[in-house]
Amino acid sequence: MLNIILFGPPGSGKGTQATRLVDAYNLVHISTGDLFRSEMEAGTELGLQANQFMSRGELVPDEVTIGILRIKMLSHRDAHGFIFDGFPRTVPQAEALDQLLSMMDQQIDALIMLDVPEEEIVQRILLRGQNSSRPDDNDEEIVRTRYQVYVSKTSPIFHYYDQKGKAFKVSGVGTIDDIFHSICEEIDSLHV
Ligand code: AMP
Repeated sequence: MLNIILFGPPGSGKGTQATRLVDAYNLVHISTGDLFRSEMEAGTELGLQANQFMSRGELVPDEVTIGILRIKMLSHRDAHGFIFDGFPRTVPQAEALDQLLSMMDQQIDALIMLDVPEEEIVQRILLRGQNSSRPDDNDEEIVRTRYQVYVSKTSPIFHYYDQKGKAFKVSGVGTIDDIFHSICEEIDSLHV
């Protein structure tokens, strides 16, 4: 079993790298952002509720987010491991994740942070917004709010896993291939 948190600010390339890691290590990819977007597209109550926060660049409340994550994890009890992308985003979410995994006799093996400077983040997301239908990628103010939310509420999670000796940083600037290889090096050096 291998359970990895792919960590970093919005626009740091987590989704792109997660897709490649899924194939390389045979993992189930869980992106809470993707889960919320499919609920929104399906027009469910949960999707409508999440959209109120997402459209402002704010976090969806922990109870809702942990609930959707739990359902997704329990539907993949036979997984070889998970790659978490965009989750956890708060320390209570990290605690809930640890609890859920321990109920399944598992644990987080590593948090890998993609390190990218703020200005590069904002430019990348606005560029992504030109080619996607995500409204939260199109508005600079919302993009900056998301970055600030990351700094204040999400970045402490690095310390949370660092205290357990499980947090690693790789540069998220460079080619997709180079970044992928740096992440693989970290994973391959774990004694799992
Ligand atoms: P993402 O696709 O990961 O950039 O997420 C897009 C938006 O979905 C975020 O700005 C939040 O509004 C919401 N979201 C995704 N994951 C979480 C989470 N773990 N906790 C709270 N809100 C989330």
